[in-house]
Amino acid sequence: MNIAIDGPAGAGKSTIAKRIAKKLGYIYVDTGAMYRAMALYFIRSGVGADDTAAIDSGCENADISIEYRNGEQAVILNGEDVTGLLRTEEVGNMASATSVNGNVRKKLVQLQQKLAATNDVVMDGRDIGTVVLPGAEVKVFLTASSAVRAKRRYDELVAKGETPDITKIEADIRERDERDMTREISPLRQAEDATLIDSSYMTIDEVVDAVVDLLP
Ligand code: C5P
Repeated sequence: MNIAIDGPAGAGKSTIAKRIAKKLGYIYVDTGAMYRAMALYFIRSGVGADDTAAIDSGCENADISIEYRNGEQAVILNGEDVTGLLRTEEVGNMASATSVNGNVRKKLVQLQQKLAATNDVVMDGRDIGTVVLPGAEVKVFLTASSAVRAKRRYDELVAKGETPDITKIEADIRERDERDMTREISPLRQAEDATLIDSSYMTIDEVVDAVVDLLP
C-alpha cells in the first residue's frame, strides 16, 4: 500500500505524513530530505546552483541512502548521517535550484521507487503522485496559502531559537513554489486522480483523518 502526498513547501506534508505512517504502521519517506542531502553535497563541494555540468557529474559522487532509527528517517550522505543539517533555508533553496536537474532526479526517483516497492509507505514530495508512484493507492495534493505556510515555517524556526524575517520567508516560499511549478522535468502539479486538501484552516488531526478516510 502506497500513499503519495504532494504539495508546495510548508503545506504540512511531513507532519501529516509522519502521523499517518505512525497510525498505520507504514514507513514515512521524506523525499525532500533526499534532495536536500544532494544540495548539501553541492554546497560542500562548492558547486554553484546554476553550474549544470558540475551538478550533472557531481551527483554521481553523492551516495545517498535512507535508514530508520527509532522509527525516524535518517539520511546518509557518503557514510555520514546528515539528517540534522538539512532543514536550513540555505539547503532548502539550493535543493530547489538543483532538483531541476535530470540526473539528480533520476538517481533519487530510483531510490524512492525501490523503497516503495518493498514497503508500505507514506511518501511526500512534489512529484510522487505524478512520476514516482503513479500507481499509489491514495494520492493527496496538500496545500495552504503562502501566508499560512510562511507563518508555520517562521514558528518552526523561532522554536529552534532562530530570529527569522517572516517577509523574507514568504518571499522565499513564493520563489520556490514558482520554480517547483514551472521547471521542465517533473514540475509540482496535482495528479489528475489526487484529492486536493487545503490545510490553511484545518487542524493536523483533521487533515490526518481526511487522508486516512481515502484509504480503500
Ligand atoms: O520538501 P522540501 O522543502 O524538503 O524540499 C526541498 C526541495 O526539494 C523542494 O523545494 C523541491 O525543489 C525539491 N523536491 C523535489 N521533488 C521532491 C521533493 C523535493 O523536487 N519529490
